[in-house]
Amino acid sequence: MRVAIFSTKKYDRDFLSAANDSHEHSLEFFEARLTKVSAPLARGFPAVCIFVNDVMDEATLTDLAQHGLQVVALRCAGFNNVDLSAAAQLGIQVVRVPAYSPHAVAEHTIALLLALNRRIHRAFSRVREGNFSLDGLMGFDLHGKTAGVIGTGRIGILVAQILKGFGCDVLTFDLRENPDVARVGAHPVPLKELFERSDLISLHCPLTPETHHLINAESISQMKPGVVILNTSRGGIVDTDAVIGGLKSGQIGGLAIDVYEEEADLFFEDLSSQVIHDDVFARLLTFPNVLVTGHQAFFTREAMEQIAATTLSNIAEVESGIECRNSVPSTLVQRT
Ligand code: NAD
Repeated sequence: MRVAIFSTKKYDRDFLSAANDSHEHSLEFFEARLTKVSAPLARGFPAVCIFVNDVMDEATLTDLAQHGLQVVALRCAGFNNVDLSAAAQLGIQVVRVPAYSPHAVAEHTIALLLALNRRIHRAFSRVREGNFSLDGLMGFDLHGKTAGVIGTGRIGILVAQILKGFGCDVLTFDLRENPDVARVGAHPVPLKELFERSDLISLHCPLTPETHHLINAESISQMKPGVVILNTSRGGIVDTDAVIGGLKSGQIGGLAIDVYEEEADLFFEDLSSQVIHDDVFARLLTFPNVLVTGHQAFFTREAMEQIAATTLSNIAEVESGIECRNSVPSTLVQRT
């Protein structure tokens, strides 16, 4: 199939081109994000492949449907950036990569936790400047602490398992029961109890209308003073203004995020020579106890290989008329 691929960097092109050795797709790469401005580039392509910050809204779907669009292939797990009901009405299939390497994201979550807690990011810069002072670098033992994991799907369960390995008491909350929670030695509890008892809270649920701003002023007020919050899921789960309030008051003792509500205008680009216009984001970067990475949790070699292989197989399945096992049903609506 002819595939227009948006938001591509060199690494995307390399992995997708290599995976295409097993297919005969005609791949056209665009560096641009898919927005209503760049959408005309995709006219005439039966397949459009997008990533986390591309916007496939009703207007773009309608426009591209008129030019032969048959399938939207997400090269990620989340699908909050696609209007699924519009796609269904237009007869456009939406396919995704539901699981590539949950280990990649789980391990990055723990990397953020360890770096933040032991101030590795600050120590690294200090030592390179010849500053060997320990002031401000004190962390806490993870052993014996209570960790709360919200969302015990593929990634959350691995995070729970790793935290158990550190000797944490792990509490979980999910809408669905998962027998693996007991297997890894964690304990499901109501959400309020998780907020009240956890020393650290890690978010692994999808962004949905229910989870939008799940971490807000009210939930933060229910948490233990000094709680550490980790978000490698989706930015919109956290109300950033409320978190800034919590950081200023000390109610939140640390924040590590790989995702941010308004990341679309920032992440994946080198903006080091430009002024950042997002004052909320700029404020976040001023806290010594905030660690931000730019949506890189998925970024391992294994995950990239899997993403490329599954994306191209999904498109091949749609092309050959087979029911694609990675279709996103239109009933699963996530919020942008
Ligand atoms: P998954 O579907 O396997 O698990 C999600 C879990 O969240 C499910 O068990 C589901 O029941 C639960 N859930 C749904 N609504 C909930 C709610 N209101 N409260 C509590 N739990 C709820 O997904 P996954 O593969 O584990 O991925 C989790 C999230 O991680 C994805 O939604 C995606 O947004 C994010 N993600 C981020 C990156 C990254 O690079 N930062 C990479 C991949 C995935």
